[in-house]
Amino acid sequence: MKINDKFLYRNKDDDFALKKALDNLQLSGTSSIIEEYEEKLRDFFGSKYAVAVSSGTSAIHCALYALGIREGDEVLIPPTAPIMTAIPVLQQKAIPIFVDTNKDNFGFDIQALKKSITKKAKAIICVPMWGYPFDYDELLDVCESYNISLIEDTAQAHCTTYNNKNLGTIGNIGCFSTHDRKILPTGEGGFILTNDKNQYESIKSFIQFGYMTGNIFGTNYKLSTLQATLGMSRIKKIDWQLDVRMKNAKLILDNLTNKNIKEIVYPKNSNPNYYSLVLQVNKSYNKVKNLNEDMVKNGIPTDIVRYNYQPMYKYPLFKQFEKECLNAEHLSKTIITIPVHPNINDNNIDYIVDYLNKIDFKGENIGAHSSKVM
Ligand SMILES: *Cc1c(COP(=O)(O)O)cnc(C)c1O
Repeated sequence: MKINDKFLYRNKDDDFALKKALDNLQLSGTSSIIEEYEEKLRDFFGSKYAVAVSSGTSAIHCALYALGIREGDEVLIPPTAPIMTAIPVLQQKAIPIFVDTNKDNFGFDIQALKKSITKKAKAIICVPMWGYPFDYDELLDVCESYNISLIEDTAQAHCTTYNNKNLGTIGNIGCFSTHDRKILPTGEGGFILTNDKNQYESIKSFIQFGYMTGNIFGTNYKLSTLQATLGMSRIKKIDWQLDVRMKNAKLILDNLTNKNIKEIVYPKNSNPNYYSLVLQVNKSYNKVKNLNEDMVKNGIPTDIVRYNYQPMYKYPLFKQFEKECLNAEHLSKTIITIPVHPNINDNNIDYIVDYLNKIDFKGENIGAHSSKVM
C-alpha cells in the first residue's frame, strides 16, 4: 500500500471565490479583498490585527523587523525547527542562538533557555513542530522576567490550542504559513497576528516598500488577491480538517499496542491540530533511523526521511552557530511522523496500525514486513 503524503484539495467554493477575485479586476496585494481576508483571519484566530503576507518565511522576517531586531542582536531558536525559521534571522544580520528543547517535545528546556539569554538577546522564536504544543506558561514567565519578546512560528500550528487560546495569539507576534501543505493552503502565502497597533502598522509599511515614500525601508511581501480569496474560501474548511485529523490520529493511537512507541507529550491544557501524528520510539537511534527508512519502503511517508530531519546546526548554512543540544538530538533521532490528513482512508489506517504493531525491533532489519509497496 502506498499512502498519500500530501493533502491537496479542491472544492467548488474555490471556483466562486476565484471568480469573485477575477471580477474584482484588481488582483494585487492592495485590493479591498485583502482587507476582507485580514478581517477573517483576525476574527477566526482571535487577535486584534492580521496582516496577509507572501509566505511564512516573510511573516517571520516581518516579525523580527517590527520587534526592532537588527545587526548583531541575538534571537533564540530551537534546533528542531526547519531552516525557514532562521533564514529571516540571517536576513536581519542577527545571530541565531540555538537553545536545547526537551527530550520528549519541542518546547525549550527552560534551564537551557535561561542560561542562553545574554544582554544582546532580543527575541525568542518558539516552534510547535507538526502542530504540537508545549508548556507556554513557563516560556512566558521567562519572556517576562528577562523582558524579551516571543515570536511564535506557528506555520504548522493553525488552531493548536493552549488554555483554549490559539497558538500564534499567545506571544507578541504569531507567524503563519499558508503554503500548500499547511492547514490553511493558498499555494504560497502567510500571515501575521498581533494585538499591538504599532507592530501592525510597522509591518503594513514594511511589506509595501514603506508606502513608497522613500523615507523608510521596506520591501514587497504583499500577498496577491487571488491567494487571499482562496484563503477566505478555505478558512471554512479548517474545522472539518481538524475533526478528521483528530479522528484519524485517535484511531491509530487507540489501536497502538506496541509498547516501544508512544505519542510525544504535550500539556493537559492543550490540543494538537494533528498536522501530523508524531510518535516517539523507545529504541536506539540506529533502529529508529532504520524504522523511518523501512516505513518509506512500505509506503508510509515520514517527514524525518522526506526532509532529512536533523538539528538545524548540522546544515552547512548554520554550522558556524553550532551549539550541541543533546535533548534536541535525542528527540530528532527518536521520532517518526505519520500522516493523518483527510485523504487517509480506513484501509490506510488499518495498514498503519498493523505496521506499527508488528515492528520487530530485535534484529537490525527493522520492520515485520518485507517491502510491501504495491
Ligand atoms: C512552512 C514553514 C515555514 C515557512 O513557510 P513558507 O510559507 O514555506 O515560507 C516556516 N516555519 C515552519 C515551522 C514551517 O513549517
